[in-house]
Amino acid sequence: MKSIAIALLAVLMAAATPPARALPGFRALPANSLEQRNYEQGRGLALDLLRRARPALAGRNARIADMAVSQLAAARFLASSDRLSLRACAAGSYSLFVSEREPGRIFVCDDVRPHARAGGAEAVAILAQGFVHESAHLAGERDECVATAFELAVMDSTIGRRSAGSRIRYGAQCGR
Ligand SMILES: [Zn+2]
Repeated sequence: MKSIAIALLAVLMAAATPPARALPGFRALPANSLEQRNYEQGRGLALDLLRRARPALAGRNARIADMAVSQLAAARFLASSDRLSLRACAAGSYSLFVSEREPGRIFVCDDVRPHARAGGAEAVAILAQGFVHESAHLAGERDECVATAFELAVMDSTIGRRSAGSRIRYGAQCGR
């Protein structure tokens, strides 16, 4: 899934007056909501996959994994809730993304939310794969090809790929 939205943020910052938040329209969900609980399940699975994959990872992927676990464990989820956030997600074709302006947060776009609300093992596994990808960005990795390679390495050494999202979006630019 998706990426660091630097160009997008520049546009949003210019439009906000004054920008109380860098990303308007994204909100935290109630902790006891079904949707939030499913994000937490996805996070739990992603953390498990990162830990299980770690011995099989080497080089850059290993270094990312060492940072990603603590970063993902501490991250907050903010869900798209209005037209501004919908526009922000659509502008970048994002499903999930992190922003350097607001570190430690995973922004969830509208196309993901119905699946998260529905829940179930497959939805949670797809969320987990997305969170593994975003955890590389949370760990400071800006390169989408590196983040995607990391995501796929973690999935391939654990439960297998559950989402083709990153490969479809970044495959061409990354030569995969
Ligand atoms: Zn990305």
